[in-house]
Amino acid sequence: MDEFGLIARYFAPLAKDEPGALGLTDDAAVLDLPAGARLVVATDAIVAGVHFLPDDPPADIARKLMRVNLSDLAAMGAHARGVLLAAVFPRGTEESWVAEFARGLGEDVRAFAAPLVGGDTVATDGPLTLALTALGTVDARGALTRSAAREGDDIYVSGTIGDAALGLKAAKGELPGLDAGSREALTRRYRVPEPRLALGQGLVGIAHACMDVSDGLVADLGHVCECSGLGARITAAALPVSSAARRALAGDPALINAMLAGGDDYELVFSAPAAAREAVAAAARAAGVAVARIGIMTAGEGVEISDAEALRVDLKTGGYSHF
Ligand code: ADP
Ligand code: MG
Repeated sequence: MDEFGLIARYFAPLAKDEPGALGLTDDAAVLDLPAGARLVVATDAIVAGVHFLPDDPPADIARKLMRVNLSDLAAMGAHARGVLLAAVFPRGTEESWVAEFARGLGEDVRAFAAPLVGGDTVATDGPLTLALTALGTVDARGALTRSAAREGDDIYVSGTIGDAALGLKAAKGELPGLDAGSREALTRRYRVPEPRLALGQGLVGIAHACMDVSDGLVADLGHVCECSGLGARITAAALPVSSAARRALAGDPALINAMLAGGDDYELVFSAPAAAREAVAAAARAAGVAVARIGIMTAGEGVEISDAEALRVDLKTGGYSHF
């Protein structure tokens, strides 16, 4: 099937809820925005063999691509408006692969009310490469940023931390001692993250700094520190840990290091003044997401873990870097 056939058959149905996508038949999309809204834009590309394995389920690849981008919108406190997809398929890609990919993307397009409004489809002799651009909006109150933390702010994180890092290990067969149910739960968290859009939206006007955790909690909180000109002191024992991760830790306490330094959590880490504790709790309840208070922003620099010795945390390098 040629490029236009693929677009018409598999991608145009994902655009049908957005008239401004013009059925993916025109040169560009034309989107209305609510009065006074500002556009929030993020993009992420993933490459076979680097960000996913060529034989990963295509529907899961689509969901992850969608969700890592929506997580960036969540971190800004934005509402999802739509997405664009640049798909670079190796020559000879099976149509069934595209069909499964579009099925997974279609489910999330509907679940997150973020229609596919455009993109590009090209062939390559190189590896499968997929780039998604997410469009979102914020109102006049503005977006959450990494640079707005203040000294003395409480530091919070949503959901649970470290599941995806352990899930990657489980997927690679590195947690053989763990029960199958826990391994499955952790792997799921690695493959299909949950973007915290409702929480991010609810934190606008309450939180100071906010970002999503994609490269590991310590590394990403370090970015908040740098951007805000502050330090952070966290208590590892206060970190929210899932029951599956708890079971893994019981078998090997040193896994705490991977959980703090590993990527792919896609939770929100944010700071808020102590006076906002009630408001943060209310926002979390309204979003249906747990948040844990894990530390405080300090006048120093970098991330300090106050109970590192007791928990045998030994972080030499924080976070995953592609370069
Ligand atoms: P151009 O010739 O300007 O590159 P194309 O012929 O590639 O445009 O694309 C035609 C239409 O199909 C455009 O509306 C484009 O946004 C849409 N489109 C192409 N590929 C995709 C894709 N992978 N996902 C969504 N829309 C796509
Ligand atoms: Mg084109």
